[in-house]
Amino acid sequence: MGLVSGKKKVKRTKHVPQRTCIACRETLSKRSLLRLVYTEAGLTLDPSGKIAGRGAYLHNTRDCWEKAISRGLLAKSLKTELNRTDIENMRKWMEAFPDEKEDSA
Ligand SMILES: [Zn+2]
Repeated sequence: MGLVSGKKKVKRTKHVPQRTCIACRETLSKRSLLRLVYTEAGLTLDPSGKIAGRGAYLHNTRDCWEKAISRGLLAKSLKTELNRTDIENMRKWMEAFPDEKEDSA
């Protein structure tokens, strides 16, 4: 048996795409941020990151979303005007976010 068990160590450098939260400008791996895309149907959440269109990234924290809405950062980033429905949708999505003031034991 001439099987040579050569253990090759392949060093893999994981390429993690970095994205910037439009509210606090913190740069994180893509997976840590939520992507919002503006499509023909209006503003939509894009958990898969695959929806075509102009997207913006935000933390899943109410803080960042509030900032993005109130300071017009999201509209600016998406280069569009957000209508009332878009904002209402955002508020709905925000409700699903974990409570930041939660004390983790
Ligand atoms: Zn942020």
